[in-house]
Amino acid sequence: MRLVTNQPILREELADVVRLFFGLEPVAIVSPEAPDTGEGTTALFVVERGGFWYMTASLRLPGEDETIRVLEAPAQTGGDVLRKRMMRRYAKLCLYRLLKERTGAAPPWGSLTGIRPTRLLRQLMEEGRTREQAHEYFTGTLDVSAEKAALATEILDAQQGYIRFRDDSSVDVYVGITFCRTRCLYCSFISVDLSKTNRWVDEYVEALLRELEDGAALLREMGRTVRAVYVGGGTPTAIGKQHLQAVLERIRSCWDGQYEFTVEAGRPDSLDADMLAMIAGCGVGRISINPQTMSDATLRRVGRGHTSEDVLRAMDAAAHIPFAAINMDLIMGLPGEGEEEAARTLHIVSGLPIHNLTVHTLAVKRSSALHETLSEFSLPDAATVEACIALSRRTAVSMGMIPYYLYRQKYMTGNLENVGYTLPDRQCLYNIDMMEETHSVAAFGAGGISRRMDFSRSVHERLANPKGVPHYIERIDAAIEKKRVFFINRTNRRK
Ligand code: SF4
Repeated sequence: MRLVTNQPILREELADVVRLFFGLEPVAIVSPEAPDTGEGTTALFVVERGGFWYMTASLRLPGEDETIRVLEAPAQTGGDVLRKRMMRRYAKLCLYRLLKERTGAAPPWGSLTGIRPTRLLRQLMEEGRTREQAHEYFTGTLDVSAEKAALATEILDAQQGYIRFRDDSSVDVYVGITFCRTRCLYCSFISVDLSKTNRWVDEYVEALLRELEDGAALLREMGRTVRAVYVGGGTPTAIGKQHLQAVLERIRSCWDGQYEFTVEAGRPDSLDADMLAMIAGCGVGRISINPQTMSDATLRRVGRGHTSEDVLRAMDAAAHIPFAAINMDLIMGLPGEGEEEAARTLHIVSGLPIHNLTVHTLAVKRSSALHETLSEFSLPDAATVEACIALSRRTAVSMGMIPYYLYRQKYMTGNLENVGYTLPDRQCLYNIDMMEETHSVAAFGAGGISRRMDFSRSVHERLANPKGVPHYIERIDAAIEKKRVFFINRTNRRK
């Protein structure tokens, strides 16, 4: 499908709208001057006249007549950020309405393509709508299903008391350990596959320890405390007990005091009682053990390199340690899985002593091996995955859990969502801060993305560390310096 627009800033978001209706079909963004190739073409043009935006969406499929729809909206004034936001919203809506009318499809999240629906709901309330009016805007204008709008509203309620708005006194800390024992079929992450090489581990840990040391000094200079530390991956435990212990002890020596401390223990084959005791001994209160599925056939199919028995063994060892919370990650819609497999996995997981459950919908990312070899696998259809997601929600509720954060990704089956569930008062603050983008984040390790909130302008800026382990090691000095400029010099410049 070709996509044409006269608004370069809208390109990517309009492409996301096209994908809602044309799935994994590639979307080629072409200039308005590009010659017509006779393929399917959709377009969105914006013209501003007399204080109004006139949005014109069109669709022409091969061998069919062109359909055109127009949407007229008051052109937003009062700041660039707000103006772009509103133009984006109306343009997407105009294209969405046309594509829905022509294809007859009804995506569960309507015209929403962004990662964070709850953030948009909150934004609508900040624009002056009541909670009910924001809900109504979701279902009426944005065409979100009543069920999904209710889920977003429920999550907003669950976050009350856990979100800190405009808090400039503290930051969250993310520490990435980008190694895994094997590479999962659906993975799009840049992580070193230790089954192929372990040559980078020593140097990576050394660089990370240096970066942490400097980061701690930086946050002290800025007078910031730490609200939550999250050690994620990759699979942090994949680098072995000694290396992980060095990282966790460095974190503890960098930041003492009270903060939420989570380690994404990850793959159960890299966990045993010793590893778990070490993690707890370093003051970590929360861990995650991630089976994704309890079907051994699927685990083999997606290259996870562990069995369902490993999950139960790791869980049994973890249950003997008084962690404040144990999370489990599951994925619905894995190759070869349907409702039966999902029901079996959820049944087993519901009997385990966990406090959080995170249910993902499979996303077929472009850089994953799955995307390359898609024709070799049988993926469940959107309706099946939707039924699995609904079952996961019923299971979480039967375990006494409530949904407390939500995000969406590109290329998700059925345009569904990922949801984090929790028992009362076991919410992970880091997850809420990340998804709602309410807090600054200092990120360490390869590919880590730091975020600096600028509350005076209601925007945030990002800084990415070098991607990929070899680059990170090679450029660690420059990465440390850039973080310093990003956090300190820019803050001073605005004072
Ligand atoms: S465990 Fe996560 S990061 Fe590692 S290969 Fe699998 S999906 Fe990728």
